[in-house]
Amino acid sequence: MPSEFIKEVADVFAKDGPLSKVTANYTPRPSQIEFATSVAEALEQGKTLVAEAGTGTGKTFAYLVPALLKDQKVLISTAGKTLQDQLFTKDIPALLKALGMGCRVALLKGRSNYICKQRLEHALQEDSYVAKSREEVVHLHRIKKFAGQSVTGERGDIINVPENSGIWPEVTSTGENCLGANCDHYNDCFVMQAREKAKEAQLLVINHHLFLADISLKDNQITDFLPEFDL
Ligand code: SF4
Repeated sequence: MPSEFIKEVADVFAKDGPLSKVTANYTPRPSQIEFATSVAEALEQGKTLVAEAGTGTGKTFAYLVPALLKDQKVLISTAGKTLQDQLFTKDIPALLKALGMGCRVALLKGRSNYICKQRLEHALQEDSYVAKSREEVVHLHRIKKFAGQSVTGERGDIINVPENSGIWPEVTSTGENCLGANCDHYNDCFVMQAREKAKEAQLLVINHHLFLADISLKDNQITDFLPEFDL
């Protein structure tokens, strides 16, 4: 006998359910419903579930629906940053709209994905030393302009500086060169702000790289940086 929670999850995927209101030509897919109710059952019973489904089977919504309806703190880890961004900017907002729900959702990446204001400031003062070419000087000044306008300081949002530009290590931080609480920019630091939002989130989207780094820190008895989650 399915529980109320499992029925609630299955109803989202019904022919006239919430998903049908926001999806053109919506047709229920039995494999998607089976996936979603299996996830719901595992969450409800505190079990581990290993599930696999091919591209196009609707597995993203199949795990997101029970995760959101469970009303607990949920951590989702993706294989790469592209999927992480897609969940955060597209799938989760679409699903929240369909379900008529609000939820504090946050995205967290490794620190090298955020501009470090302190290192950027230093690089701008010393641009003839840190930039190895005229092109990198141009990149540096584009990053400066972006950092002044961006809310998150995420380097992936800059479209006119290539991912492989040699300037990036000069304007992002590592655990070793970050000044932490001694930094003049600590209170408006992009990395610290992203971590604060992650702590407050009900649903946090990370990637496996960060997830495993956190486990490794815990294994080495070093303070972990990911907050505690229920699921
Ligand atoms: S706190 Fe660390 S990461 Fe943030 S601006 Fe300062 S040095 Fe950079």
